[in-house]
Amino acid sequence: MRPTLFSLKRSLLTVAVLFTTTVSAFVYADTPIHPMMGDAPSVPKNIVILIGDGMGPAYTSAYRYYKDNPETQEIEQTVFDRLLVGTASTYPARVSGYVTDSAASATALATGVKSYNGAISVDTDKQTLPTIMEMAKKQGLSTGVAVTSQINHATPAAFLTHNESRKNYDEIANSYLNTDADVMLGGGQKFFPAELISQFEAKGYRYLSDFSQLDSVTEPKVIGLFAEVQLPWAIDEVGAHKLSKMTAKALELLSQNEKGFVLLVEGSLIDWAGHNNDIATAMAEMDEFANALEVVEQYVRQNNDTLMIATADHNTGGLSIGANGEYSWKTDIIRAVKSSPASIAANAISSENWQDEVISKLTFELSIDELTQLSRARMQGQDVMVTAIKKLIDNRSNTGWTTGGHTGMDVQVFASGPASKLFSGYQDNTDIALKIMSLLPKKAKSPATTTQVQSNK
Ligand SMILES: [Zn+2]
Repeated sequence: MRPTLFSLKRSLLTVAVLFTTTVSAFVYADTPIHPMMGDAPSVPKNIVILIGDGMGPAYTSAYRYYKDNPETQEIEQTVFDRLLVGTASTYPARVSGYVTDSAASATALATGVKSYNGAISVDTDKQTLPTIMEMAKKQGLSTGVAVTSQINHATPAAFLTHNESRKNYDEIANSYLNTDADVMLGGGQKFFPAELISQFEAKGYRYLSDFSQLDSVTEPKVIGLFAEVQLPWAIDEVGAHKLSKMTAKALELLSQNEKGFVLLVEGSLIDWAGHNNDIATAMAEMDEFANALEVVEQYVRQNNDTLMIATADHNTGGLSIGANGEYSWKTDIIRAVKSSPASIAANAISSENWQDEVISKLTFELSIDELTQLSRARMQGQDVMVTAIKKLIDNRSNTGWTTGGHTGMDVQVFASGPASKLFSGYQDNTDIALKIMSLLPKKAKSPATTTQVQSNK
């Protein structure tokens, strides 16, 4: 009981603090906003939440150098540098220590309450917690998710539904029928069998199973599943820009609701590449997440009633920019890699001319020693070959990793648009949710609500 009471008190305290700092926001939220031409409202109509899964500060720094044009003196800013406003701690509920998983962190970001690792928007007593998406729905806003993992993976799940375990993929997929979410885009065909899809269709959803169908969609509701599980690595689909295209489409569809919308965009696979300690794949995922951020940044510039807020749920892999005692991080090596190590290894295993195969994808020169090591690894099978290729890239670029799991460091917070200043400085990940909740419309004084109140008497 004590931890729950404590966290409840803590949440109330935070709300009280937020209330005083955003008192004008609350006042305005109660009345319709009529922004004058060019004037941004103080409270957003639309909110876009972007999460780089596993994207600790080392990733955004690494991405800056990965994108740097070596021909110029200056080191160019990235979208992350432009939008940075603060930091957030990510620790889960006491019972799970200091290092969070994606489920507990997404629960914090979606509900403002800390829970145990594995929780999908339930508290430490496994009681359901109201989410930002549910609150938005109640006020007549549209909601949506666009992610590169399966849509029933931990992060989108915590925004859309509730479950005592992130591992209950089928239950989570089934529960999406009751979310009334307007746009769901990502992977996960494996968890949505034909029978379940026909239930979605009966509820008015259009189902897409091929990415090329996305262009033809002109109105919600839509559920688009473009892979069995997660989408392919961005590095293996150069020019596909799937996350940024899904993001643009989601914005187009959700903005049809005059009352506004809440959209969650997740660069899910940054984390997966981090778990694999795979720098080339991670940087390509970062690049596509940055593209999605730029799509939203552009939308916010053109629609001054839209707030964007981006963060990471935690840090993954303990990525180090520089390693082996050397003061150097060689991005030319990382940029030279043209396929994921997983795909290079698969091709090398099945090919007679495996050396040409590897050299054509790594595109930097390999020493005799390195080729010998790869040859030995190849004889031990695909997994060993993948590891050997990743090690080779790490050694040559001076990239370091400390773990195949998560680490407990704080993450960054990025924002732009109305009320974006609310997110500046240090905050806890639960504060991010509470601040977003404070910006949602208050209970509408519609006849429907009045009737409901009366009938409850
Ligand atoms: Zn992870």
